[in-house]
Amino acid sequence: MTTGDLLLIECNALHSIKHWPGFYERLQTISYKTQRNIKKYDGTWVGTWPLGDGKDISMAFNRSELHNALWEYVQELGIRVDFSTTVEDYFETDEAGGVVLADGKKLTADIVVAADGVGSKAWSLVLGKKDVPISSGFACYRATFPSGPALENPIIAKEFEGYVDRACIHVGPGAHIAVGKTTRQICYMLTHREDWDKTVPVEKALTYIEGWEPFLTELIKATPNSRCTDWKLLWRNPQPKWASPKARVIQLGDSAHSFLPTSGSGAAMAMEDAYSLATCLQLGGKSNFALAVRIHNHLRYALYILDMSERCYTDPAYTDSSVYHAPRKWDSTTGRNSTTPTGMR
Ligand SMILES: Cc1cc2nc3c(=O)[nH]c(=O)nc-3n(C[C@H](O)[C@H](O)[C@H](O)COP(=O)(O)OP(=O)(O)OC[C@H]3O[C@@H](n4cnc5c(N)ncnc54)[C@H](O)[C@@H]3O)c2cc1C
Repeated sequence: MTTGDLLLIECNALHSIKHWPGFYERLQTISYKTQRNIKKYDGTWVGTWPLGDGKDISMAFNRSELHNALWEYVQELGIRVDFSTTVEDYFETDEAGGVVLADGKKLTADIVVAADGVGSKAWSLVLGKKDVPISSGFACYRATFPSGPALENPIIAKEFEGYVDRACIHVGPGAHIAVGKTTRQICYMLTHREDWDKTVPVEKALTYIEGWEPFLTELIKATPNSRCTDWKLLWRNPQPKWASPKARVIQLGDSAHSFLPTSGSGAAMAMEDAYSLATCLQLGGKSNFALAVRIHNHLRYALYILDMSERCYTDPAYTDSSVYHAPRKWDSTTGRNSTTPTGMR
């Protein structure tokens, strides 16, 4: 089973990339040639919307292919990346920020960026107290595998007839499934109320979609070794401080602010954080690093809160995955749910 699944990068995070020589063009070759599609659990088509804000396009990727494109690009730029290295703790002095690795080794740098996800180990240093992520109340059955063998199943093949790539959300009672398919990979993410284990037999996932259209059950049954990942969806309540007291360690991405997958924004916000931090540090210069880090923190937090409050109002999927789970009033003429989401998350 391949790692990762479908990742939508909204257009706001793609502007800066256009200035990286050659990279945007590479992304175009691996991005899904699809629109936002939504179907009801019984197979009724709800609608199709273009990806993007009407002016600029958003892009969907197989997560592993996006990671690979980034990995190849940083290698070409001569940037060193060490894998399989676990950070146990963060620290800072007047002169440097640092990490303590699992093997006890200490590494220091002018600035340490703690981009270690929702379970970040930087919280004790940044907030001065231990803080653990809390359950969002949801978990996600996830699997990604080569599309070739899955498409030998006639029901799965029929669903994708006429499509080279397709990303679609299937909404239903108590659960929703995002399904992505390219010529290379197929993936599903079935979000349900929490009941969590690491990997589970696919039969567990099937109990959430009993009576849904046959294509979806066939797809889940096609998971290699009949086991999928059960991914707990964690959450942190927003808090404004992402920098350590001396500003030598700065949290970035999910480590600073968590997003539910249904918001479709976590990765885009993490990328924007990176552009913002780099720009502030470049403008501030080495001697003004602390000011630069704090300004970055203030600007991004203000934007994050604005974005959150605005989007929570217009798009409940931002903080509540269950908006896809219980179609309320379906318009009989269009098949449209009164809470049809604004995006394919
Ligand atoms: C099922 C699912 C679907 C999603 N879909 C979308 C979507 O369509 N669009 C979107 O914008 N967002 C989406 N998101 C959210 C998005 O994946 C995250 O917001 C984004 O990956 C955050 O990036 P990050 O780099 O901050 O953290 P992460 O992607 O979590 O990366 C953190 C990295 O740090 C490493 N790490 C963690 N702890 C340590 C440690 N102690 N030492 C060393 N390394 C460590 C981890 O292994 C990982 O590689 C989705 C999330 C899920 C779960």
